[in-house]
Amino acid sequence: MRRIDYHTHTIFSPDAKSQPEEHILEAIKKGLDEICFTDHNDFVFEPKWLLKADAYFNALLPLKEKYKDQIKVKIGIEVGLDMKSKERTEILVRSYPFDFVIGSIHSIDLCDFAAEPSFYEGKTKQQVHAEYFDAMKTCVEAFDCFDVLGHLDYVRRYGPYEDLSIDYAYHQPVIDEVFKTLIRKGKGIEINVSGFKRFHEGLPNYLEAKRYYELGGRILTMGTDSHIACDVGTYIDQAIDIYGDIGFDDVTTFTQRKIDHHGV
Ligand SMILES: [Zn+2]
Ligand SMILES: [Zn+2]
Repeated sequence: MRRIDYHTHTIFSPDAKSQPEEHILEAIKKGLDEICFTDHNDFVFEPKWLLKADAYFNALLPLKEKYKDQIKVKIGIEVGLDMKSKERTEILVRSYPFDFVIGSIHSIDLCDFAAEPSFYEGKTKQQVHAEYFDAMKTCVEAFDCFDVLGHLDYVRRYGPYEDLSIDYAYHQPVIDEVFKTLIRKGKGIEINVSGFKRFHEGLPNYLEAKRYYELGGRILTMGTDSHIACDVGTYIDQAIDIYGDIGFDDVTTFTQRKIDHHGV
């Protein structure tokens, strides 16, 4: 499998610290085949989380050219999927020449569940996770302007629970619907390796990635979700070791939202 980092955030995201060039230098240092920038745009959290897309392309295009003999640099975006912002998100994605788009569930019913403790009041963990996967199913069916679904089980990072694990057996019917919809629409999943830090496995975990493959899914990217340059490329080798035996021939890469190569 090629070693890529297809999920990185720079100073163009409000929660990230490094300049894009620092990311590229780190990716070259770690010997990656490709790096893709995927700074945030979440209309539901405006104005803070809106991407300044003109400035973003103006900063990244010269770097792509400067380092073209050393590493492939792609320009992508991570868009938050929420039904209220569907049209604006679609317009944004088609207004700029993005190579790659991650679609992620960062809100449930317009609520930032990562930052809003009241979201969890009066609900069981099972209910919260069900709401999350239902929102995902709705958005994956409704949206077309993305290439892979970001961090499938991101919700496991949050909530006032001692045991943050997800009851996959309980939620599998909805997750299967998500996978089947992605496959039918020619879209993929990412392995978000940021999960290794806290959970010792990626998001999604091995069994869920395997399930996606068994249902026919072949489009797979890997990304660190790095918010600082030194994290670029971390855990990619572990992820290839662990997920590499599922059957995917390779990771998928994109140019102008078209697949460069993908597994059989
Ligand atoms: Zn995200
Ligand atoms: Zn991200």
